[in-house]
Amino acid sequence: MGIQAVRGTRDVLPGEIENWQRIEAIAREILARAAYQEIRTPILEYTELFQRGIGEATDVVGKEMYTFTDKGDRSLTLRPEGTAGVVRSLIENGLHTQGLQRLWYTGAMFRYENPQAGRQRQFHQLGVEVLGSGDVRADAEAIAIATDILQAIGLKDLTLQLNSIGNADDRQKYRTALVEFLTPFKDKLDPDSQTRLTKNPLRILDSKNAQTQAILENAPSVLDYLSSESKERFDRVQSLLQDLGISCNINPRLVRGLDYYTHTVFEIQSDNLGAQATVCAGGRYDGLVSQLGGPETPAIGWAMGLERLVILLQQLEQNRQSTVDFYVVSRGEKAEAQALKLAQLMRRNGFATELDMTGSAFGKQFKRADRSGAKACLILGDAEAENGTVQIKWLKSGEQSAIAQSELLNDIDRLRQQLSES
Ligand code: ATP
Ligand code: MG
Repeated sequence: MGIQAVRGTRDVLPGEIENWQRIEAIAREILARAAYQEIRTPILEYTELFQRGIGEATDVVGKEMYTFTDKGDRSLTLRPEGTAGVVRSLIENGLHTQGLQRLWYTGAMFRYENPQAGRQRQFHQLGVEVLGSGDVRADAEAIAIATDILQAIGLKDLTLQLNSIGNADDRQKYRTALVEFLTPFKDKLDPDSQTRLTKNPLRILDSKNAQTQAILENAPSVLDYLSSESKERFDRVQSLLQDLGISCNINPRLVRGLDYYTHTVFEIQSDNLGAQATVCAGGRYDGLVSQLGGPETPAIGWAMGLERLVILLQQLEQNRQSTVDFYVVSRGEKAEAQALKLAQLMRRNGFATELDMTGSAFGKQFKRADRSGAKACLILGDAEAENGTVQIKWLKSGEQSAIAQSELLNDIDRLRQQLSES
């Protein structure tokens, strides 16, 4: 066997690349209109950046990083996410001295995790970072831009989950309460959650384990631990979103995996992705810039997983294709002329009808019929043309029967019924 692509990586081939380009073009335009500027940072960074910026107790740093020593004996890491690199660049290039920065980026990220649909080892994100504003409007604007992009791409069935984890102080208090609540159940938690109980207890809320989730049902809610300022801030974010016509679910269980988040955290999830439902995730991270050696700089950002958006776009395309009711297949001069007439007749009676005009072999026309997503084929050959009939073939069941062309539309209701059932 020849050499294959590395596990968890994929080629994006012609045919699919158009969807990637479409997403990027839409995002680029919406971001430019909102005065966001693109930034490109290296894929390789010193490992320490992520250790300090994301935190050792997270899955990303603890388990998922592609880290190696280079020939000069430096520990380097393929970036697992975009924020730490952007913040490093902001500090290193003094961008924070030039006023509010609205930045966006796109590119490959690397995490060593279990590959499955919508989860890869090399994947791609498009993200924004707004650095230098702690205003609630920055939170609302960032979220609004994410929803604008997803909407412009044409995605449906999305929900915005919103939460606040307060300031560092609120979070500390909640952390203590959560640990106190969970400690008596320690032995019943899944192994990962047991480790997190000391290292990163908030992440336990994220556990996919059913028994852990059952225990968490009575756990204290972070919203009860917010200071009055944090609470008021969260209320203002919600009312700004409401003003913008953006609805959301308040989800007190929502926490982000990365340590640097404060106040607003959110995820946008799709109903059409199974387990890998989150297409966009983000929040406020007022502590990160100073943690990486810069001045105190409030900030908010999000990242979208492009693979998941592409999967959703492909689903949309398939749905669009299946809006063809009939695909008309014909061969021979007389049959082809009748097929054109029949197609027009079907359309005039409200049926979406695609006419194959290639004149190629029946086999090839049938293949195209399959690809069109049509429910049924109308087939006209020499024999049918001669005696004024048409074969109707239901593509899912394979059922086929002949009927006089003049009778095809005698019972339109029944035909509609058959279409909706097949
Ligand atoms: P998850 O819970 O799905 O692992 P996460 O919390 O690790 O997500 P973030 O670090 O917040 O994800 O990344 C933001 C977005 O990037 C995710 O919502 C998802 O759309 C995408 N993403 C993250 N990891 C992967 C991956 N391994 N493959 C594809 N997309 C990913
Ligand atoms: Mg993850």
